[in-house]
Amino acid sequence: MDFASMTFPLTIDVSGTQYWIGDEGPYKLGMAATEFLADEDSANGSLREELENCLRVFNGVFHSFVDSFTGTQEQMNRFMQNSVLCTVGYGYHAVPGSIYLVERYTFTSLRDFLLVELGKGILYGNSPRQCRLCGRWYFHEKGDRTIYCDRVAPGETERTCREVGARAVFEKKIQDEEAWKIYKRAYKKYYARLMKGTMTQEEFKAWADEAAAERDKALRQLQREKISEVLMAEIFRELREKLNRQ
Ligand SMILES: [Zn+2]
Repeated sequence: MDFASMTFPLTIDVSGTQYWIGDEGPYKLGMAATEFLADEDSANGSLREELENCLRVFNGVFHSFVDSFTGTQEQMNRFMQNSVLCTVGYGYHAVPGSIYLVERYTFTSLRDFLLVELGKGILYGNSPRQCRLCGRWYFHEKGDRTIYCDRVAPGETERTCREVGARAVFEKKIQDEEAWKIYKRAYKKYYARLMKGTMTQEEFKAWADEAAAERDKALRQLQREKISEVLMAEIFRELREKLNRQ
């Protein structure tokens, strides 16, 4: 969307989650606000801040784009006081082959347009999200479970954040399984000793408590964002050693 060449008053036709700007479209609600946020060169810093505040407060409550609502009371107040100027009418929007009953909004500024576009998007479950890998904004549609964008990932030439991210999730899962395997193997070994009577109930309990704590510690270490092969091998070696000390 070319914001620089938009002329105001701007009229859009909204039907459900989609809308048209003149003959252009359909766009999905939330897309324009996402594009505005994703364009890091966009000069209008105060509008960017207002949109981010809207996301933090309004979206944070329902579909968190961050892990949890981290807004302050001041942000909440600012959001509650925001309002936009626009007119709404009703009409038909005709496209080849079909005709839509639409709400026809007319905005006098980019701010008014983007705040309504974002707010309506959030109401329908769409919203801009920040990619967990590169941190840039991307459009997130209702029901979409991704947490990564599909731009080329940092430091990559072809693979996208989504590909790199999915790979990382997969690898973490394998690593977790390895930690559990080490734990289960050791558990079997000491449980056999308990059964044979070469280990007392108390000794076994003490071992089991410590083993569970060591296992969880290893799992937490493996969860870290970036982990080298060397460190990973070290975590497994240490876990194996600690669980089989006696
Ligand atoms: Zn990304």
